Amino acid sequence: MNATPNISPASPSPRPILALPDQLISQIAAGEVVERPSAVVKELLENALDAGSTSVQIRLEEGGVKRIAISDNGRGIPADQLPLAVARHATSKIASLTDLENVATLGFRGEALASIASVALLTLTTRTAEAPHAWQIENGKISPASGAQGTTVDVQDLYYNTPARRKFLKSEQTEFGHCAEIVRRIALARPDVTFSLSHNGKAVDHWNISAIDKRSAHILGDAFANARLALDESAGPLRLHGFAGLPTASKARADAQYFYVNGRFVRDKLLTHAVRAAYQDVLHGDRYPSYVLALDLDPALVDVNVHPSKIEVRFRDGRAVHQFVFHAVSRALAQTSATSFGTVPAPATAMGSTNNGSGKIPWTSGEQTSFSQQFSQEFSAKPREFSGYAFEPQNNPQGGVAQTTQSYGALFARDLNPMGDALTQTNTASFAGSELPNDEHPLGFALAQLHGVYVLAQNSKGLVLVDMHAAHERILYEQLKNALDENSMPVQPLLIPITFYADGIEVGTVEEHQAVLQSLGFDIAAISPTTLAVRAVPALLKNADAQSLARDVLREVREFGGSRVLIDRRNELLGTLACHTAVRANRNLTVIEMNALLRQMELTERADQCNHGRPTWVQMGLNDLDKMFLRGQ
Ligand code: ADP
Ligand code: MG
Repeated sequence: MNATPNISPASPSPRPILALPDQLISQIAAGEVVERPSAVVKELLENALDAGSTSVQIRLEEGGVKRIAISDNGRGIPADQLPLAVARHATSKIASLTDLENVATLGFRGEALASIASVALLTLTTRTAEAPHAWQIENGKISPASGAQGTTVDVQDLYYNTPARRKFLKSEQTEFGHCAEIVRRIALARPDVTFSLSHNGKAVDHWNISAIDKRSAHILGDAFANARLALDESAGPLRLHGFAGLPTASKARADAQYFYVNGRFVRDKLLTHAVRAAYQDVLHGDRYPSYVLALDLDPALVDVNVHPSKIEVRFRDGRAVHQFVFHAVSRALAQTSATSFGTVPAPATAMGSTNNGSGKIPWTSGEQTSFSQQFSQEFSAKPREFSGYAFEPQNNPQGGVAQTTQSYGALFARDLNPMGDALTQTNTASFAGSELPNDEHPLGFALAQLHGVYVLAQNSKGLVLVDMHAAHERILYEQLKNALDENSMPVQPLLIPITFYADGIEVGTVEEHQAVLQSLGFDIAAISPTTLAVRAVPALLKNADAQSLARDVLREVREFGGSRVLIDRRNELLGTLACHTAVRANRNLTVIEMNALLRQMELTERADQCNHGRPTWVQMGLNDLDKMFLRGQ
């Protein structure tokens, strides 16, 4: 009945303990270090960069299985050290534990070349600046060779002597794909180095020395180049710089996420989580942000020796790093910016120095302006002359005249601003086109409404198009969030309570979760076992249909359980509420209402994306328009 299943295979007869031969040790190590061709590419590229190269060629055949040949123009290896270079645990990069704790080179374990040589045919040709000619080592034999300064490592027939491993390899295209991704990762980290990649004799990619903004545009493509924020923030020993893609550049897969720690590409849970959390407010859960970010810090504060291929790291103070990264990315995303057409909003950065001995990514020339700086600079520039364009002052597009100052409150100003604020400026707004765009109003002034969906506005750069529902939704969402955070949700009592028929579950939820409902600004009471009365709603949402608003809140509260809804589901809940109330498409707005919306957007953090991650506005610069009409070409 109770037969124990026999899970242990018949154990082989015991053998005496023996020290393993060197070759076998390397082959075992190779299992970790050289798990597939792309891992060889990674190790060889890292060696080339550690040697101070500025130009690297990668030639692959049959996905790297047949051949991986990598040539660099680095400092080379002196002939007398050649045998050691391919010996196990031999490295020029560290000599002591102190060195290990402060390692600034990519390699340091001294096992890559030995591991590769144990599972493939490896030939290394190298020449230092001083040497009269090159030297070659193959199979332990050293001989004179020809060649320029630098090193070429030629690896052929990977796993020729370990057929079991060879079986695990995937198709040629798949293996090549992995190799190419490794090259991209490294090329992104080092825009100061030229890389070229060929496969089966055909050139596949080539990156000249350039600035990181160009190289990342080249590698991540136009969608990223046109929708990204440059960021560069420091706090104490930590610096985070690079580009965070806007939600419009997000992807269905997490394949455009490049994170570097001291110049080393990592896939680290803590860092991925910090970035992901920063995007939470602006990105739908099933989308993945695109980014190229580099964290630089004192090497003593991070242990890179926790993983054989060093893809994970361990921080001395993980919490501080998490906080810093989260806040830096959040702040970048909170800036109001537009998805502009055909222009890269990021500042161009000059090429960094070629000496990367510090392990820091050479992405900046030290003159980088943050996006916000650039943004305000652009808008403070003198408004340009609109020569040749007739931007006629517009009357109210609905045919009526612009309304009196009373009506500005009709929608955005009064409703969105229970406290009253900077909107007073717009009280005096007259007709749209007569306003001179200035730096105070980066989103400019409304011209008209298009098909009841878009607001057209004019700013100093050109035309601004606003998705009014998305924009309003974002404004409401941020206002709700602030009010909830400050525990001061303004409440609007209803003169006549709205009553509706409710089922037992809804009535039960009301009775059970009064406190949560109140903190959200709702006063809902059960006035019979089957009737609910809404007596007050959040003032920010008072234009919504009270009954469906109440039903939605009750459903969320019930599904996610009382106070948890305010913690884990808070943002989703507020998003639902905001969507309810946001001005619907096809609602006609007056010019004054449109301007109120623009002013409100400027005051709102993250106003450039609705909380579903869609952009809320785009800028079409006069240059873009000129191009469309082939002016000046
Ligand atoms: P590690 O990189 O961990 O030191 P490797 O086995 O990758 O170990 O390389 C061993 C040594 O060979 C390095 O420390 C370096 O001195 C030398 N070496 C390897 N590749 C190159 C290269 N492309 N240019 C110059 N020196 C190299
Ligand atoms: Mg190495």
